[in-house]
Amino acid sequence: MEERGSPDGDPARSLEQGPEGPETPIQVVLRVRPMSAAELRRGEQSALHCSGTRTLQVSPPGGGPDVAFRFGAVLDAARTQEDVFRACGVRRLGELALRGFSCTVFTFGQTGSGKTYTLTGPPPQGEGVPVPHNLAGIMQRTFAWLLDRVQHLSAPVTLRASYLEIYNEQVRDLLSVGSPRPLPVRWSKTRGFYVEQLRVVEFGSLGSLMELLQMGLSRRRSSAHTLNQASSRSHALLTLYISRQTVSVPTWGRSWPRATQQGSASGCRKRLGHALEVPPGEPPMGGKLCFVDLAGSEKVAATGSRGELMLEANSINRSLLALGHCISLLLDPQRKQSHIPFRDSKLTKLLADSLGGRGVTLMVACVSPSAQCLPETLSTLRYASRAQRVTTRPQAPKSPKQPQRLEIEILQLQEENRCLRSQLGQIDPKASRLSGARVAWAQRNLYGMLQEFMLENERLRKENSQLQSSRDRARDEQRILAQQVQELERRLLCACSDHQPHPGPAPQCPCVMAPAPPCHALPPLCSCPCHSLCPLCRAPLAHWACARGEHHLPQVFGPKAPGGMPLSAQPPPWAPPCNPGSAKCPRERSPSDWTQTRVLAEMLTEEEVVPSAPPLPMGPPNTSPVLRGCVLRGDL
Ligand code: ADP
Ligand code: MG
Repeated sequence: MEERGSPDGDPARSLEQGPEGPETPIQVVLRVRPMSAAELRRGEQSALHCSGTRTLQVSPPGGGPDVAFRFGAVLDAARTQEDVFRACGVRRLGELALRGFSCTVFTFGQTGSGKTYTLTGPPPQGEGVPVPHNLAGIMQRTFAWLLDRVQHLSAPVTLRASYLEIYNEQVRDLLSVGSPRPLPVRWSKTRGFYVEQLRVVEFGSLGSLMELLQMGLSRRRSSAHTLNQASSRSHALLTLYISRQTVSVPTWGRSWPRATQQGSASGCRKRLGHALEVPPGEPPMGGKLCFVDLAGSEKVAATGSRGELMLEANSINRSLLALGHCISLLLDPQRKQSHIPFRDSKLTKLLADSLGGRGVTLMVACVSPSAQCLPETLSTLRYASRAQRVTTRPQAPKSPKQPQRLEIEILQLQEENRCLRSQLGQIDPKASRLSGARVAWAQRNLYGMLQEFMLENERLRKENSQLQSSRDRARDEQRILAQQVQELERRLLCACSDHQPHPGPAPQCPCVMAPAPPCHALPPLCSCPCHSLCPLCRAPLAHWACARGEHHLPQVFGPKAPGGMPLSAQPPPWAPPCNPGSAKCPRERSPSDWTQTRVLAEMLTEEEVVPSAPPLPMGPPNTSPVLRGCVLRGDL
């Protein structure tokens, strides 16, 4: 006995496995439909026998040796629709789609072999009449399972659907608002092949999705011929887009409507959760689960197709041939690396990712048991056997959290950036402006933007810390100068107390004695709130003699800075530049001011004690200067 097909182990195990490893084979299951009433009437015999759950034996009518084919699962005529749903592994694909993978289920086989029945059940009995629950196909059962699954997820999910058919090599939108019109298939580096302007409808309930399915099924082209009273004349692709989000992310000023196309079908807007908004025309990000109901290959002679039906049949056969050719090439390890002619038909373009790309694919091969159909059945079985040796490289999806995390990080960095800029006080236009090339690079992806912000923030941080350290240095200098002033003042007061007169009538304070001008007459008076008084006569002090106003005294006693200007007289580095006309600019000292200052400074450096007043009037020789009314304040 000759046996063909996949030799690997337990189908259940392989179906439950994730897409580990670099390559994953296309999973193939076989469904054998029961003999139809017409076939039985004609007395046709079954040529197929199932052996176990994975092997199908074919007995050629001429008598030769049986041929066996092995698949992931073989589901014979006795298996119900529910059995098929449970055994085919579509739930595994659903799980993978929820995790962000792009998954495809497609039925394949001769016309009338039960492809549409397997996917969607028997044809509807009338307008709006739903398929009986027990006969519902893989699609309805998957929809119910998926929506139930989504309800139990912790993260909110948004679901959308599109539905198209390829009829006579034209793509038509089955969910379009008006009558379906041909849509172009385009290619882009990031998206691969895609249908432009395809309507993608958001839905939030099983009922809404079923409505969409019914709408598409009723608009899909089908005709009656000898082998099938409701033969699909087009390939139909229904795609579910699954977007999982944990938080909503601002879109930097851009906004677009929530529906990804012109609008949503009524009653389909109930959202399951909050989602990242998608710009119009863009496919939603995240996982995909696509159901492909291929039109069956047909021998025009056997189906009796004429006229339009024959044209349709030719077009169907051509696209199926292109599909078979691509699968053959994909099987050849040498050819796989080279060109695969996916562009030969719309069907192969739209299945390119599922067959040779990054998708996860399940093929449900359907056959008729009748010995009359054996040539087509053998062809289908060979085709399916080969398909299960085709591998794809499912790409681990970017975790939906990852771009989100990056976006949040970018927002945080932007905020930090703003703070740093405001701390700097002024933005250096040169530094903040990114070069054109870097901007272009940064715009290319989130990582680029993130890196760009990190670099800029690093630069701003450095600039800020430099500024802070120079401010700290200036503060230290100011503190030292203030200490020097206090020290000088202390010495001055000590000197005053040393010269305190003997008890007796208090002499008049020298600051009010003629002919020297009184100390408080020194313009201008201190404007700071200290209101310092002359320690001798308690008259208000001149502003330069104020002990508390740190800004005044250092200008008098500060050490010399390079360039001859007293260091303390220099404006602090953080101070705004001095405008000579400005009221805030310190008054320029008159020569007399500087004379007094210099004298005072010289006396202090010679350890002389000098009152904070003009020179004392000279008395008779050998008489000490008479001080009168000097009551020293304890706090001075
Ligand atoms: P295809 O889509 O492959 O051309 P269909 O799915 O339209 O074929 O099936 C052709 C006919 O066979 C339909 O009337 C359908 O109801 C019937 N049929 C197919 N498969 C089964 C099955 N497993 N059980 C009962 N009837 C079936
Ligand atoms: Mg069909």
